Amino acid sequence: MIIVMKQDATEQQIQVVVNRLESIDCEAHISVGRFHTVIGAVGDRQQILQLPLEALAGVDRAVPVMLPFKLVSRDFQDENTVIEIRGVRIGDGSFTPVAGPCAVESRDILFQTAEAVKKAGATVLRGDAFKPRTSPFSFQGLKEKGLILLAEAREEFDMPFVAEVLDPRDVDLVASYADMLRIGTRNMSNFALLTEVGRSDTPVMLKRGFTATLEEWLNAAEYIYKEGNQDILMVERGIRTFETASRNTLDITAVPLLKELSHLPVLIDPSHSSGKRQLVAPLSRAAVAVGADGLMIDVHPTPETALVDGAQAILPEEFAAVMQSVRDIAKALRIPL
Ligand code: PEP
Ligand code: MN
Repeated sequence: MIIVMKQDATEQQIQVVVNRLESIDCEAHISVGRFHTVIGAVGDRQQILQLPLEALAGVDRAVPVMLPFKLVSRDFQDENTVIEIRGVRIGDGSFTPVAGPCAVESRDILFQTAEAVKKAGATVLRGDAFKPRTSPFSFQGLKEKGLILLAEAREEFDMPFVAEVLDPRDVDLVASYADMLRIGTRNMSNFALLTEVGRSDTPVMLKRGFTATLEEWLNAAEYIYKEGNQDILMVERGIRTFETASRNTLDITAVPLLKELSHLPVLIDPSHSSGKRQLVAPLSRAAVAVGADGLMIDVHPTPETALVDGAQAILPEEFAAVMQSVRDIAKALRIPL
């Protein structure tokens, strides 16, 4: 149920509604909009329906939510969520390029890549210290040493960074270094991890599970939001289909649909969706045109020797060319970049 307060509702009237909801063990989530305050009631549907909410002072209307997700829906919050990390705003109508190596392998490779992507226009650095690998014998990441290098690169190149967290026990560690935590495709349905990052005050990048529907993906975001962390950035990274010519199939349709259903910003990852470097440029152009809030791209100075995902990594100079064509499209569409 969503309770929309009148434009002139007082703090006290809002509190009365919250108290009534809490009296039946219901959670009340408050969203303060430009015109109205909206209260999202999460709890036993039948019990909520029995409360005479519309009779309370200051209440404009109480609307049952038919969607299976509430807090991340447009019904709950009409205005777009804007996330800010170290002065970089994501979701405010501008376009945010995130780039860097898939994994932190060494100081040299990380710094070389960070310098190049920054020069080409990326505003957020990516790089992982914990890698989810199909084989337990593959490179698993440099762990805390990798996070320390990322933090040094942040200072050197003045770029906030995003890094993956794989285990609920590592959330505090990764959050103590990173500006944004990432939940990867394999962990989108790891509810213990989603709950733990939801309790953190570090923004979260939530990648789409490669077998997840939009509804499942939005419900995963709901797990995070429900715990209090409202800074969630969705990333479409391709889904598994019958097609085997690319690693996964980038679901371009997900972007406008998600924007209709939810107030959360959404990026496209052309690297992990395609798994092929020659597809990164055309998919990046599509990302701007379809209305994504940004891109996340794997870049490596020597992809042939990369410890992870070399086949999809593009060279720094290729990234600069991608940025140029992305800028051209953004300019035509009057998107600030
Ligand atoms: C990544 O971004 O490095 C990654 C592992 O992506 P995904 O979880 O989408 O496969
Ligand atoms: Mn990767």
